[in-house]
Amino acid sequence: RKRIAVMTSGGDAQGMNASVRAVVRTAIDHGCEAFAVLEGYEGLIRGGEYIKPMSWDDVRGWLSLGGTAIGTARCLGFRERKGRLTAAHNMIKSGIDAIIICGGDGSLTGADLFRSEWPSLLEELVSTGVCAAEDIAGHENLNICGLVGSIDNDMCTTDATIGGYSSLQRICESVDYIDATAQSHSRAFVIEVMGRHCGWLALMAAIATGADYLFIPERAPSPLSWGKEMCDVVERHRNNGKRKSVVIVAEGAIDDQLNAITPDMVKDVLVDKLGLDTRVTTLGHVQRGGPAVAFDRMLATLQGVEAVEAILSQTPDKPSPMIAINENKICRKPLVDSVALTKSVADAIDSRDFDKAMSLRDPEFIE
Ligand code: ATP
Repeated sequence: RKRIAVMTSGGDAQGMNASVRAVVRTAIDHGCEAFAVLEGYEGLIRGGEYIKPMSWDDVRGWLSLGGTAIGTARCLGFRERKGRLTAAHNMIKSGIDAIIICGGDGSLTGADLFRSEWPSLLEELVSTGVCAAEDIAGHENLNICGLVGSIDNDMCTTDATIGGYSSLQRICESVDYIDATAQSHSRAFVIEVMGRHCGWLALMAAIATGADYLFIPERAPSPLSWGKEMCDVVERHRNNGKRKSVVIVAEGAIDDQLNAITPDMVKDVLVDKLGLDTRVTTLGHVQRGGPAVAFDRMLATLQGVEAVEAILSQTPDKPSPMIAINENKICRKPLVDSVALTKSVADAIDSRDFDKAMSLRDPEFIE
């Protein structure tokens, strides 16, 4: 019987529990044994009780549960070959044939590296006497599959990541609350939302809440003009009778000289140039909290099922899959390509080549 493990890694995201539930139950339904690796790659390195057999009942009620019940971690050890060697040994010891990793681009980069190193890790385990040749028989290929769990919606080749819409919902609810008090006192609020290389959360939140102005990494303004441009818009809205002003700032917002645009800088401009009573609100970890919205529960479930089916139909000649959603269809993409493309986009944003970043994300993009 195939032994399939599931792990959540990197920042937690709503819907991760739903994906673990779907993987565990689909694996059992296909006659496999299901395992959870606790605490992300940390659990793979620690082994033993961190690799836990999972039954159908273990995941009961997880569909709507926020966070990740099997734990997640940022694990420095897995970035080193030594850590990955221990992880490989633990997988062999527990007889795990395949692993499904639900995490962001970092986690899936780690997964891809682990798969590419796998033959040399096995070789080292045998040549150093840690494993006997017969121990590794049947484990020659590492069977992995990626599920994209991240609130940032920053992975290329998929339209949505598990957690993105829940986080967006949390942001919109928070902005609605702030709107009420801003309106009462006729104040301006500068609201910082998550998103380092990707302004999706900030952009969609601005559209969905009707914010007055927005700063995202992908549209870096000139340091000489962004203050005036913002104030012109905010002032126009005020002159049209609006009593409140909301400016959303993605945490990775920069100007086109790569200087950070921080919420405090934006606040100072609104105070100095328009004389507005201005407050800063950093939404922080609230954005990761609460239950997954219906879309994420559905996405996580359909993709969890697909991940197990992808694992069961995997052959050594096929690239490891990442489960995506494109134009409302659940589909498989080569993990290595998705990870590489996502990294190229982040690099292009870091080097201020915004048009390149946009056209990499969407080849049909036209300025
Ligand atoms: P989020 O989108 O929420 O930030 P993420 O998966 O991108 O999630 P990271 O902290 O980047 O979060 O990665 C999670 C873990 O994956 C790291 O702590 C590390 O253990 C592993 N990892 C990330 N990048 C690599 C890499 N290049 N090589 C090996 N392991 C990596």
